[in-house]
Amino acid sequence: MKISVLGVGGTICMLKDESGGVSPKLNAKALVDSIGLTENINIEAKSILAVPSPSLKFEDIFEIIKVAKNEIRNNSNGIVITQGTDTLEESAFLLSLLWDEEVPMIVTGAMKNPSELGSDGSSNLYQSILVASDKSSRKRGVLVVFNHVIYQPRFLHKSNSFSLDTFVSINGGNIGYIYEKQVRYISPIYKNKIYNIPDKIDKKVAIIPACLSGDDYFLDKLPIFDGLIINGFGAGHVSFDFIEKIKSLSLNIPCVVTSRTGSGPTAYNTYSYKGSEIDLQNNGFIMGNFFDSLKARILLTVLLSNGFGKDDIFKEFNSYYMYF
Ligand code: ASP
Repeated sequence: MKISVLGVGGTICMLKDESGGVSPKLNAKALVDSIGLTENINIEAKSILAVPSPSLKFEDIFEIIKVAKNEIRNNSNGIVITQGTDTLEESAFLLSLLWDEEVPMIVTGAMKNPSELGSDGSSNLYQSILVASDKSSRKRGVLVVFNHVIYQPRFLHKSNSFSLDTFVSINGGNIGYIYEKQVRYISPIYKNKIYNIPDKIDKKVAIIPACLSGDDYFLDKLPIFDGLIINGFGAGHVSFDFIEKIKSLSLNIPCVVTSRTGSGPTAYNTYSYKGSEIDLQNNGFIMGNFFDSLKARILLTVLLSNGFGKDDIFKEFNSYYMYF
């Protein structure tokens, strides 16, 4: 059994520097060595990058996929990516839309750096290696392992800025656990939709936050974007001013409306007032369903970069309506 651990950065590899704060320092091999693995698993450790995750780019995600595929060609049976947690819900979701291999790809990280008391990096890495090497992880695509839990990227959310238990599955359950060194799945294989890896991602999709008396502030700047996510009020709503202004711009780009509430889907046919979901749909807006604004932005970016037009994007988002 061979597992490849690919380091990208994040707190899991950070140590104190001269400033007194922490920054990326440890390479993937040092992380693996810190576990003292006794299982009969051959580990190939490689550092691809050493960045804090707010600075990860779409191109870096493509590079991860390229290196991971190369590892599979070199007989790797599972991939583990170590990265920062700040953007993990987005990068793992993007990886999950593009990872077409049967070999599992596990994404993990840490909330406490290795020099802190009770740091969680080695235990998360160890659990990820167990999941990556477990036969029942095959064909499950990209998974996130953190603090004994296995998550589906689509439902993943970082819910706390410091807690070790930061990740939660919004709108969907956890799919498995790692206890007593055993990987235990409690859900069947989730059929993830896979898209082509675009040659490049040069489409700009902006997220517009809805906020009291201010959801229309940025509207004048919108024509430079290829797509929009409006993180709407409640079940996916905007103000009278917003709908008036955006209509007057006559934008011919896909605009998806999500819910800023943190959980639950957008509505489709409940409210009919100006700025509601019925009004928005009548004006060509796409409802984001269970996708939060961050995931909707990733999906819309992938679709645009794969050449999907407005109608196909509408169909694609709607195809997730009953898709689990
Ligand atoms: N700021 C760090 C990062 O996202 C936090 C972490 O690694 O969890 O890289």
